[in-house]
Amino acid sequence: MTTPRLDIDIAKIAHNAKELKELYGSKGIGIFGVTKATCGDARIANAFVQSGIHVLADSRISNIRRMRHAGVQAQFALLRTPILSQIDDVVKYADISLNSELVVIKALSESALRQNSTHKIILMVDLGDLREGVMPSDLESTVREVLNLDRIELVGIGTNLACLGGIKPNEKKMADLSSIATDIETRFALTLAFVSGGNSANYDWFISTNDTGKVNNLRLGESIYLGRETLFRKPIPGQFTDAFTLVAEVIESKIKPSVPSGVVCQDAFGNVPEFVDHGQIRRAILGAGLQDVLVSGLTPRSDIEILGSSSDHIIVNAKQVDLKVGSEVEFDLDYGALLSAMTTPYVTKRYVT
Ligand SMILES: *Cc1c(COP(=O)(O)O)cnc(C)c1O
Repeated sequence: MTTPRLDIDIAKIAHNAKELKELYGSKGIGIFGVTKATCGDARIANAFVQSGIHVLADSRISNIRRMRHAGVQAQFALLRTPILSQIDDVVKYADISLNSELVVIKALSESALRQNSTHKIILMVDLGDLREGVMPSDLESTVREVLNLDRIELVGIGTNLACLGGIKPNEKKMADLSSIATDIETRFALTLAFVSGGNSANYDWFISTNDTGKVNNLRLGESIYLGRETLFRKPIPGQFTDAFTLVAEVIESKIKPSVPSGVVCQDAFGNVPEFVDHGQIRRAILGAGLQDVLVSGLTPRSDIEILGSSSDHIIVNAKQVDLKVGSEVEFDLDYGALLSAMTTPYVTKRYVT
């Protein structure tokens, strides 16, 4: 089988999805399955659906369009606030979108009118992570304007933490979101179907809290794919952390010094490399590089060490492992590595069950 390739264990992903859905469901929290790390891959999306997750969320409309065209039977939510120049496609392909700009929501309203449809929105509130969201002090006036728009249905509010500012979604932040939801419902005499508290980083809060308040939804990607929460990247009990495997192949294997000889200048990427002297070692070159995967996000499954990489090569210290030309080497991937391997055309995807 050709390399570099990504082995994707659909059964493990389905297991993780089902267990997490049940876990969060035990305290009344529903799940959107986030598909953006896997480029809207239809088989993975179908595994989510078969595990009982009926809303799939992606940051890109092109991924949502791809899943729809592949016949994935789910509702679709657009995670990133819509790009104005893509508004018609957002209304056409997404059932719900997460929003933070009135000018965008007005454009959604006009587009929905033109297309004779309606569009649901979740308004994002910035609780301090400082990526997307309306500031809490502006929320009431924003809601008032949204409620005046034709063909727009306000179905919820949400927040996103631990993404840009690394802010922890703790008891206080979730209580703040709950009380904001209560205020909006009371003031405008409406019911918010979704109070969406965050992402895979909400795991610790969820496990430790006795009171989820009005928070009834989370949007989960990484913890389903990689079986970890994302504040400390701790494995979640009962979850598979190895559903994805990057496989690369040895193209050169020789005993060479561990330190380069000559005058040290910049490497291929403008860095000045540093090496520790371990004497003569077996250096294996793998036929994969930065065009294939974010190498810094790879962890070898065997006892070897990544020494460096360039566009098309990864160089490892084979230590005691018998790596010959043609040997396959397996790696675990972090989220960034997964995203890059799924996105590049150079990595073959193989589905294993
Ligand atoms: C990516 C994203 C998520 C999912 O985050 P994970 O850490 O993968 O669970 C949730 N919400 C928004 C708005 C996102 O952009």
